Amino acid sequence: MRPVLLWFRLDLRLIDNPALRAVVESGAPVVPVFIWSPEEEDPWPPGAASRWWLHQSLRSLEQALAEKTSRLVIRRGPAEPAIHDLIRETNAGAVFWNRRYEPAVIARDAKLKRVLTAEGIETHSFNSALLFEPWTVSGSTQQPFQIFSAFWKACLKQPEPAEPLDPPQTWRGPACWPVSLALTELGLEPEIDWAAGMRAAWTPGEGGAQKALARFSSSAFEHYSTERNFPARTGTSRLSPHLHFGEIGPRQIWHALRSGANNNAAAANAYLREIGWREFAHHLLFHFPFTTNEPLRKEFAFFPWRNDRNLLKKWRRGRTGYPLVDAGMRELWATGWMHNRVRMVVASFLVKDLRISWEEGAYWFWATLVDADLANNTLGWQWTAGCGADAAPYFRIFNPVLQSEKFDASGEYIRRWIPELARLSAPWIHKPWMASADVLAQAGVELGSNYPLPVVVHEEARHAALEAFERARNSRREAGTF
Ligand code: FAD
Repeated sequence: MRPVLLWFRLDLRLIDNPALRAVVESGAPVVPVFIWSPEEEDPWPPGAASRWWLHQSLRSLEQALAEKTSRLVIRRGPAEPAIHDLIRETNAGAVFWNRRYEPAVIARDAKLKRVLTAEGIETHSFNSALLFEPWTVSGSTQQPFQIFSAFWKACLKQPEPAEPLDPPQTWRGPACWPVSLALTELGLEPEIDWAAGMRAAWTPGEGGAQKALARFSSSAFEHYSTERNFPARTGTSRLSPHLHFGEIGPRQIWHALRSGANNNAAAANAYLREIGWREFAHHLLFHFPFTTNEPLRKEFAFFPWRNDRNLLKKWRRGRTGYPLVDAGMRELWATGWMHNRVRMVVASFLVKDLRISWEEGAYWFWATLVDADLANNTLGWQWTAGCGADAAPYFRIFNPVLQSEKFDASGEYIRRWIPELARLSAPWIHKPWMASADVLAQAGVELGSNYPLPVVVHEEARHAALEAFERARNSRREAGTF
């Protein structure tokens, strides 16, 4: 029997991996491969933090495969010539993979499928990443959904997602293995080691993903609805990078939370609704692929964004003078992750207080997040900017001080990430510029020196943003385009 290439992509796991399961069931010798081809994901090739994670995750996959007396054959892309080389070297008769949904990847895979089929090589693709693939859910008009609640309601009417597949115990390898690059040859890890904070915060790989799910389902899960908005607490699952790299699949999460010891329907539904947002993001990316670089709502196409590199730099570095915003940006830089509530606050601050384009924010998150995900990031930024599906209206502008007082009342989160403010107590830690000279001096805070003064006055910035939005709407209306 001719070998089969098992092409690993964003499905770096053995449990509930339908492509792996199908190859093993076919009885053919399995040649697991990974092809590094960032240029094919242009204009969104994996950023630096994602590359760091990918390196660790591939190492973990290599180990898991070695335990099954298998291997991971690593090659550089582009994918089509790399696959052709591997077919020639192994005499493989088929290629199996799990599907991805990014526009550039869909185009690449569709072409590859055509080429291989014409050459008599079988191709089989599977769903490992989603509960409901984008083309399986539509409304009564057969149009794609743009409202989350209607989308999720339609999803919940679908048959329950299948039980996760057990990992195969053993399988056959080829008689002769093709050569592989060493993982280090891909150069995914930074040359200057800036990843200490990420190493301390995360355990990439399938084992780390299983542990994160076990931790969440045994402790935080029951209180998710009440705790999920407080950034100083461990109230969320922190599964996002594991889900992005496919180290765990949503079917495993679905069934883990709805069964046995976790039989708490209300808590499960609240959490699975957030997994639903991930599904919705993929639905939108598939049906509106242009949204990675253009607003879904056309009236935003001519919004007068400011091109202020200096303000952008201050936002990126966590030096805006608004403690909650700065704490979030510093958490991101140190760990490659930021709490969802704080993501919304820093994103709103960039696009509304600073009036810098959501695309600038999306690019920065793309470079720095370990969970950078084209579907979720696009949705998150367009939602905050008010220009996406089911978005927060433009006039809803987060007040960074009120958000801080509400969701980090004691200032614990701010203190963790901004040591300069550690000795300042609430309420001043949320708005140091309002504190008296005495209070600041006692806390060792020198505004404008060891911690910045606010780069904008929120109320004025809010007013200017609303005016700019009205101007954009009016000019579009005058041009007769909506
Ligand atoms: P939990 O609260 O435990 O949620 C479980 C899972 O549900 C998450 O891991 C994630 O896969 C999914 N999820 C939760 N909230 C959302 C959401 N609003 N949209 C889509 N999926 C969601 N998430 C990413 O995975 N990658 C991104 O690049 C990304 N960029 C974002 C950008 C902005 C501006 C905003 C506002 C949000 C972004 N999010 C992104 C969504 C969300 O912030 C993260 O998924 C969440 O903080 C991850 O932490 P968690 O795993 O503990 O989440």
